[in-house]
Amino acid sequence: MIYSGKAITVSALENGIAELNFDLQGESVNKFNTLTTDELRRAGEALAAAGGIKGLLVTSAKDVFIVGADITEFGKNFNLSEAEIAEAVYATNQYFNAIEDLPFPSVTAINGYALGGGLEMALCTDYRVMSSSAKVGLPETRLGIIPGFGGTVRLPRLIGPDNAAEWIAAGKDQKAEAAMACGAVDAVVEPDLLREAALDLLQQCIDGKLDYAAKRAEKKAPLQLNDIEAMMSFETAKAVIAGQAGPHYPAPVSAIKTIQKAAKMERDEALREEAKTIAKLAKTEVAKNLVSLFLGDQALGKAAKQWASQSEDVKQAAVLGAGIMGGGIAYQSAYKGTPIVMKDINQAGIDLGLSEAAKLLSKLVERGRMTADKMAGVLNQITPTLSYDGFDAIDLVVEAVVENPKVKHAVLAEVEGKLAKDAILTSNTSTISIDYLAEPLQRPENFCGMHFFNPVHKMPLVEVIRGAKTSDAAVARTVNYALAMGKKPVVVKDCPGFLVNRILAPYMGAFMGMMRDGADFTKVDKVMEKFGWPMGPAYLCDVVGIDTGVHAGEVMTKGFPERMSRDFKTTSEILFEADRYGQKNGKGYYAYETDKKGRPKKVVDESVWELFAPHCEARRDFTDEETIDRVMIPLCLEAVRCLEEGIVASATDLDMALIYGIGFPPFRGGALHYIDDMGVAEFVAKADKYAELGPLYAPTDRLREMAGNGETFFS
Ligand code: NAD
Repeated sequence: MIYSGKAITVSALENGIAELNFDLQGESVNKFNTLTTDELRRAGEALAAAGGIKGLLVTSAKDVFIVGADITEFGKNFNLSEAEIAEAVYATNQYFNAIEDLPFPSVTAINGYALGGGLEMALCTDYRVMSSSAKVGLPETRLGIIPGFGGTVRLPRLIGPDNAAEWIAAGKDQKAEAAMACGAVDAVVEPDLLREAALDLLQQCIDGKLDYAAKRAEKKAPLQLNDIEAMMSFETAKAVIAGQAGPHYPAPVSAIKTIQKAAKMERDEALREEAKTIAKLAKTEVAKNLVSLFLGDQALGKAAKQWASQSEDVKQAAVLGAGIMGGGIAYQSAYKGTPIVMKDINQAGIDLGLSEAAKLLSKLVERGRMTADKMAGVLNQITPTLSYDGFDAIDLVVEAVVENPKVKHAVLAEVEGKLAKDAILTSNTSTISIDYLAEPLQRPENFCGMHFFNPVHKMPLVEVIRGAKTSDAAVARTVNYALAMGKKPVVVKDCPGFLVNRILAPYMGAFMGMMRDGADFTKVDKVMEKFGWPMGPAYLCDVVGIDTGVHAGEVMTKGFPERMSRDFKTTSEILFEADRYGQKNGKGYYAYETDKKGRPKKVVDESVWELFAPHCEARRDFTDEETIDRVMIPLCLEAVRCLEEGIVASATDLDMALIYGIGFPPFRGGALHYIDDMGVAEFVAKADKYAELGPLYAPTDRLREMAGNGETFFS
C-alpha cells in the first residue's frame, strides 16, 4: 500500500502501475470535503516519494466517480475574507497540480457522475476513459460561483474555449457521447469494460505508444488562439451567455471573462485568476442564496423521503374532475409511472382532460424526448371513466372538481363511500379550508389537502395540507405520491390560502393599494420583473384569471379581515365587473393578441385607465425602491407570520415553497432570506416607514424582538 486514508487509498498493481482509489468512508458518494482534499495532498506526496511507479490509474469504489465539492462546507469557507478564500483555493489547487505533474502517465476511469471537482480531478490526469452510463459536468455557475479546481483552466485547453464556455456557463451534466465528441474524454466504453480499457490506455502510455507528455504540456500551456480568434470567441460567448443568464446571475459571464483573461497564461498563473474570481463571487449574496437553495432543496427532499418511507407506494391513483388541473394531474401521474383513473361527470370534460395530456406528450415526441410507443404507453395509464367502478382498489384519490364548497362536500362524501377503508382522499382545493371539507366525511383522518400549482407538469411544488384530524398515515402516503410524481412536497397546516397563496395575498393586496394611489401597473410589472419575479403582479393577475384572483381575494379577506380587508374597490374588481377576466378572454390589465406561434402576447390597452379613473388617484410616479418596498414588505411579513404560527415546519421549507410554488426569485433565496440579507432591523425600520398604509405593513412583536437582539432566520 502506497497510501491509506479514509477517503483515498493508493495501492500498487502489477507492472509498476499504482491505483489511486476514491472511497469516502461512511458516505454513499465521493466528494471533495476537507478530509478528501487533504488526503489528495498526502496521496500525491506518497506517489511522488514512492519509487518504481510507471503509471497511475485513478478510480472510484462508489457508484459515482466524485460528485464535486462538499457544498455543506461552503458556508464556513465563504465566511473567510475574499483574499483568504482566493489563497485557500489556490493552495488546494497545488494538490491537483501535484497529481498532474507526477513523472509518469495517468488515466482516470470515470465510472459514474464526475461533477465539479470530480471532473476537475479527472482533468488533471493525462487521459480519461468514461463509462457509457456516466455523466460529467461543471455545475458551479448554478451555485453562483465558478469551478475552482482548475475547471476554467484545463477544460478550455482540452476542448476549446467555445465548448468550455458552453459547458461552464450552462452548468449542465454531459452524457458520454457529448464528452467524447468534444474531446473531454478519450474513450467511452460499456461499464463492465471500463477498468480494462483504462488500464490498456495506461499501458500504451507506459509502452511509449501514446505521447502523454505532449498531451500534458498542451493542457498546461496558454490557449492556442490568435487575437482575432480569441476576440471572436470570447466576445460572442459573453454576449450570448449574458442574455441567457440575465442580470441577476453574474457567474456564467464571470467564468468566460476568467477564461479570456487567463488565455495567454501558463497553468499556475491562470489558476490564480480562477481563484481570484471564485473568491469574489463567493462573497456575493447571489452565491450565498444559491448555495442555500441547493442545501434547502436537499433538506426538503430528505424530510419528504422520511414521510414517504412511512407509507406503501401508491399503485393506483384516481382524480375526480378532468378539467385544467385534473387533466394535468392525470398526465403527470401517468408520465411518472403511477396508473390513474380520471373521473368526470360529463364526457366533454374527459375528452378535454385526455386531449390536454395527449398534447403535452406529443410535444415530447416532437422534440425527440419520447417515442410514439412510449407516448401510447403513458396514455394507456390514464383510465377515463364516468363511473365509480373499481374505486375500491384505489390507494389515493385527488379531488379536483369545481371550486365550490357544496359540490366538493357532496363529491367527497360520495367518493369516500366507494373507497376501501384505508384509502387516502385528498383535495386540490386552492382556497377552501381542509377542516371544513372534512366535515361530511366518515374518516377525516384519511383526508388531507394535495394542492398542485398550475400548470401541473411545470410547477414543482405540492402543498400537502394537514387538517386537524388528518393522520400521519394520510400525510405519508400523499407525500409519497407527490414524490412519485416528481414533485417537491411541503407539509403545511390548514389556514386560508394555505402557505403559498396566503403569503402571495398581501403582495397582491399591496399592489391593489398602489393602484389606488395612482401607480402605473406597466411600470410596477417592469420593476418587479427586474427585481427577479417571472412576471409582475398585473400580468400575474391576467395569467391566473381576474375572476379567480378576485375570488381568492375574497376568501383571504374573510380569513384575515384584520389586515386583508379593504375600504376601496380594487382595480381587479373593476376589471372583473367589466368582464375583463385576463388572458382567458383576451382582456384584463393588458389586452392579448396571438403571436406567430399561437401564444397569447400582451399589449398595452389604454382603455383600462378610463375604467380605473373614478376609483384611483391620478397616475403618478413611484420610485423603483418604493415600488419594491410597498409590495415586498407585506409579502415578507406574512411569511414571518406563517413561520411564527407554525404553518410550515421551518424557515427553509417556507423559502423553498415560495421559490417552487410562485417563482420567488431564486437568487434572492426566498422571503426570509430577503429579510436576513437586508438585516432584520433595517427591514423592520423600512416597514415602520410605511405604517400609515395599514396593518399589512406592521411587523410582528417577535420580529421586532429579533431586530433588537440581532437575530436572523438563518445562521
Ligand atoms: P375546471 O373547471 O377546469 O375543471 C373542473 C372539472 O370538474 C370539470 O371538468 C367538471 O366537469 C368536473 N366536475 C364537476 N363536478 C364533478 C363531479 N361531481 N365529479 C367529477 N367531476 C366533476 O377547474 P380547475 O381549474 O381544474 O380546478 C379544479 C380544482 O383545482 C379547484 O378546486 C381549483 O380551486 C383547484 N386549483 C385550480 C388551479 C388553477 O389554476 N386552475 C390551481 C390550483 C388548484
